[in-house]
Amino acid sequence: MNVSGDYFQRAEQLLPGGVNSPVRAFRSVGGTPFFTKSAKGSRLRTVDGKDLIDYVCTYGPAVHGHNPEPVRRAIAGALEDGTSFGTPTPHEVALAERVVDMVPSLEKVRFCNSGTEATMSTLRLARGHTGRDAVVKFTGCYHGHVDSLLVKAGSGALTQGNPDSAGVPAAFASTTHLLPYNDPEAANALFSEKGEEIAAVIIEPYPANCGLLLPEPGFLETLRRLCSRNGTLLIFDEVMTGFRLAPGGVQELTGITPDLTAMGKIIGGGLPVGAFGGSREIMDTLAPLGPVYQAGTLSGNPLAMAAGTAALDLLRELDPYADLEHKGAFLQEGLLAVARQKGLPLQVPQAGSMFSLFFADEPVRSFDDVLASDTDPFKKIFHHALENGVFLPPSPFETCFISTAHTEADLERTVAVLGDALRQL
Ligand SMILES: *Cc1c(COP(=O)(O)O)cnc(C)c1O
Repeated sequence: MNVSGDYFQRAEQLLPGGVNSPVRAFRSVGGTPFFTKSAKGSRLRTVDGKDLIDYVCTYGPAVHGHNPEPVRRAIAGALEDGTSFGTPTPHEVALAERVVDMVPSLEKVRFCNSGTEATMSTLRLARGHTGRDAVVKFTGCYHGHVDSLLVKAGSGALTQGNPDSAGVPAAFASTTHLLPYNDPEAANALFSEKGEEIAAVIIEPYPANCGLLLPEPGFLETLRRLCSRNGTLLIFDEVMTGFRLAPGGVQELTGITPDLTAMGKIIGGGLPVGAFGGSREIMDTLAPLGPVYQAGTLSGNPLAMAAGTAALDLLRELDPYADLEHKGAFLQEGLLAVARQKGLPLQVPQAGSMFSLFFADEPVRSFDDVLASDTDPFKKIFHHALENGVFLPPSPFETCFISTAHTEADLERTVAVLGDALRQL
């Protein structure tokens, strides 16, 4: 048996499903996961000694590829001074200054340890600030494993064929109203009935946890208008899109200003960091200044803050967004060219360094469209790619990520491998 298989057998005895996050178990593509020994640039090296061009990029954080030198140096530097103090440190101020500078809607920010903590805290803050309980989310949007948001949540939950989680009290889920993405009429209708009860609308402005969906013109603007009119806070969950699509995420690209923003992934430079922020007025509702409690023993951890600061500084130094867009468009065009030749109903939504593959006749614009797409071809492509040195996310509902470390040769090789897989369908 190969080394990964041996580890997985041991892991299955000790960890539910052999993993610490469900999608890693390969359940939605079949087979068993490989184990990674190390990673550098665009490549993962498995414990079996195989090198893979990586389009998972740790599910988003690795925008610079794996183990970039400046981030490693920053962590090593911080390590000399100690790993955790339980007091404020200069590292928190450094990262906060960068985040507030880069993300247009932020005046203040609080750091936590994951994207889930960030979205959870934005909801509590919105509820505490407005004195209302109800929240609105969109079908197919994933905001981490927050109880009241694990409703039609795409991603890992969806790949289990079960978009809702057991263990969420009906009372929690009942405070969550669901709306379809890209449907301004449905949003208008809900707000005309219940607008004054709604504390917050939370949305992935570019949903990227059910494949990739893109907003139609006017949709996000409608949400902004409805929220402003009804005293509802608009929360952009930019855990995935923040720092990846532009320094200031989708809010910078679209010019739409949310009231609160949840961040994660890239902001930690590969270490566990989440953050949320907004105007001074709203953020000052948080303890110790205000009545909304939120805390964390390891929040603002010096190693994590140093890693995040180095990752953001590298983004500002490289300004890679045009290059990432070019790389994304190259893959999209390469795959669509093969699909056209073969007459395959392939859709490849792409924005900058994010893309996904849907097998559907028409562009996919909502969660219903996602569910109606054919997922079998993706499973075949996934395994063909893996056998040929290309690691795609092990689910048709995850987004693929490109990093600054992906070379032209990597991309050409990828189009060749995925092109072969498409031709063999
Ligand atoms: C990954 C993700 C989260 C959850 O972040 P974790 O760090 O996994 O808890 C929340 N929202 C979005 C949009 C994400 O992509």
